[in-house]
Amino acid sequence: MKNIVLFGPPGAGKGTQAQILKDQFNLVHISTGDVFRKNIRESTPLGSMAKSFMDQGHLVPDEVTIKMLAAEVEAQPEVEGFIFDGFPRTEAQAKALDSLLSVKNSQINAMVALEVDDELLVERLLTRGKESGRADDANELIIRERIAEYYRKTDILKHFYQAKNKYHGIDGVGAIDEITQRLKLVFKKL
Ligand code: AMP
Repeated sequence: MKNIVLFGPPGAGKGTQAQILKDQFNLVHISTGDVFRKNIRESTPLGSMAKSFMDQGHLVPDEVTIKMLAAEVEAQPEVEGFIFDGFPRTEAQAKALDSLLSVKNSQINAMVALEVDDELLVERLLTRGKESGRADDANELIIRERIAEYYRKTDILKHFYQAKNKYHGIDGVGAIDEITQRLKLVFKKL
């Protein structure tokens, strides 16, 4: 299996790029944000719990997020690999992902990070908010809180994968197609 963590702050372009790359590399795309939003649309108990955190720009607690991710992975037994988008976001999640995959005699092959300046992230998310109607993209204060949460809890995961020689930083600024080409160069070598 080839498993890739597509990493970066909110608005870095993870979802957009994962949608393109999953078909080209025959990988299954799992976005924890998308799974939470689906649960919110369907008014499940998980959805209403997650919403209270998402609306404030905070991370959903590890315990529920890890359980949900594990169920998503287990639901797809016969795959060539996964692109994880928006997971892991904490060290506990990264460790849980390692153990989940090791049971399958598999592992994370790489963390590929999209690097984008904070002010450009805010600009991109405000634009997306107007187009997509995502509540957490509509308010600049919430957007800034999500970026702050990224630096508080998530950014350190670079070191977790760097220590395993699995970290690849990519310039995430430019046209979507240009960024896809940069990512493909890394994906092909894995
Ligand atoms: P995203 O679509 O990846 O930007 O995620 C939207 C929101 O969902 C985040 O701001 C968090 O509140 C929640 N979320 C998504 N993935 C995770 C995760 N791995 N851990 C905790 N919360 C998450």
